[in-house]
This record gives sequence, C-alpha cells and structure tokens, in this order.
Amino acid sequence: MSAPLPIVRTVAELRAAIAAKRQEGKTIGLVPTMGALHEGHLSLVRAAKQHCRFAVATLFVNPKQFAPHEDFDRYPRDEAGDATLLASAGCDLLYAPERAVMYPDGFATSVLVSSVSTMLEGQMRPHFFGGVATVVTKLLLQAMPDAAFFGEKDYQQLLVIKQLARDLDIPVEIVGCPTMREHDGLAMSSRNAYLSADERRVAARLNFVMHDAIKAVHAGAPVDAVEAEANRHLTAAGFTSVDYVAIRNADTLKPIASLTEPARILAAAWLGKTRLIDNMAV
Ligand code: AMP
Repeated sequence: MSAPLPIVRTVAELRAAIAAKRQEGKTIGLVPTMGALHEGHLSLVRAAKQHCRFAVATLFVNPKQFAPHEDFDRYPRDEAGDATLLASAGCDLLYAPERAVMYPDGFATSVLVSSVSTMLEGQMRPHFFGGVATVVTKLLLQAMPDAAFFGEKDYQQLLVIKQLARDLDIPVEIVGCPTMREHDGLAMSSRNAYLSADERRVAARLNFVMHDAIKAVHAGAPVDAVEAEANRHLTAAGFTSVDYVAIRNADTLKPIASLTEPARILAAAWLGKTRLIDNMAV
C-alpha cells in the first residue's frame, strides 16, 4: 500500500506545496486530468516522475469544455479511488480545486487558439477547445511546472496546448505521451465505462478500421477514398454514426492529398450515446 496522497484545493496551497519542493531543488511535472482515472492517465504520471522529481496531478471536471447537451453531469467521478491510483503510480500531490476556485464569480476571460482548433473536434464541438485552452492555461499558470504531460489519445488537444504555451510564452515543456490501449486495441478512455457489453465489442473495431486505412493509403489508395471507405466500415461494424475519419498533416491537421508529409489518421464515432475518439500515426 502506498501512503495516502496529499490533496490541495486552493491556488495558494498548490503554490506553497510546489515552492517548498522547488526549495529542495526538485523539478515539477504536471498531469492535468478530469479524473475517472485509468492506465492511460497513470502512464502520464509515470512519465512525469521519469522527467521530473515531483509529480502533481490535477483533478477537475471542467464545465467550460462541455456543451449544455453533453455529459458533464454524468461524467464519472471518484476522487478517493483516483487518489489511491495516483499514489500507486508514484504521484506526489493531487490538486483538486472546486469550481469556484477555477471560475470564481465574475470570471470573464477565455483563451481561444485559432488554426489547429478550428477543424475536426473544433467543428464537431465548437465550445470544446476554448474550454480546454482556458483551463489548461490556468492550471499551467497556477502550478508553473517545468513540464506538463498530455496524452496523444487527444491528439488535436495536444497540438492546441503546445500552440497556446508557445503563443503565450508560458515557460513549460509540453510532453506528449503514447496512447494506452486495452488488449483488443481500444484506446483507454473514462467514457468507455458508458459502453454496454455489445457496444464495447463494436468499439474495438475503431482501431482495426484505422489500421486498415493506414495500410490502404500506404498501398497508394487516394486519401479521400480511404477516408470514405473507413467511414463505411465503421457504420457496417455497428457504429451509430461517424463524425469524421480524416487523414491529415500531423503538425497542422490540414488536409493532405498524398503521403508526402508526416500524417496522422484521426476518427470520432458514436456508439449509442457514447462518443469515441482515436488517432494514430500514418
Ligand atoms: P481526461 O481526464 O480524459 O481529460 O484526460 C487527461 C489526460 O489523460 C489527457 O492528457 C489525455 O490525453 C490523457 N489520456 C486519456 N486517455 C489516455 C490514454 N488512453 N492513453 C494516454 N493518455 C490518455
């Protein structure tokens, strides 16, 4: 059993705890999460501990990144369970602020990243990246870590965060970490808990369809034909609907005509009321 994880809930407590560790000469790694933790989140904590001497996880279900019709109210919450998992992964401190700490009355600022946040997820969930960029900017400025760790699972989000840190001169290294998957290849996600047994079986098809699309495009098939075929395969496999399957430039997410530049395949599809996203290097 690991020792119970210290938890702080205010910016002042967070900064005091971090300042004390800096006095000891320790570097600080930050891992922002919305809780309902799984091995994907814990891999970020382990990466933070490898890069930095002191790992801080944050737990905040950020209302600003959910639209009114989305799953904010039913998003899974288990702070005690999360704290136990974090401690077992070597995390040193949990920052779990209340909503009023992050967004006190009168809060009026938002961070909007253009270009990379306007397509794909940005088109499907227009409020989403504004909410993410605002909360991540706040967390980075509250903690002022040496490095912050994010999953490639949310690839477009990772690009948005790299962009905002660069544009706003926030002195932090943004580190992207590989996607952790279940045995059948399904990307781990807190939202997988919503899936029925039947939906869970279909969900595993997402990564197979993406692998097939990667093979097809390497074999010379045109990008738009491969995207359309992958879309059809997902529907045939039992996905309720497909928001997008897109093969894009890996740095800008702009459309590409051929594999002459580094590329990434990204997909979002629905199983009943659950929306799954995934991506892979092409
Ligand atoms: P969330 O709690 O879903 O907002 O995710 C918090 C962080 O964990 C984000 O940086 C995610 O990209 C990352 N993450 C979520 N799922 C995975 C996964 N399967 N593998 C690696 N990182 C992940």
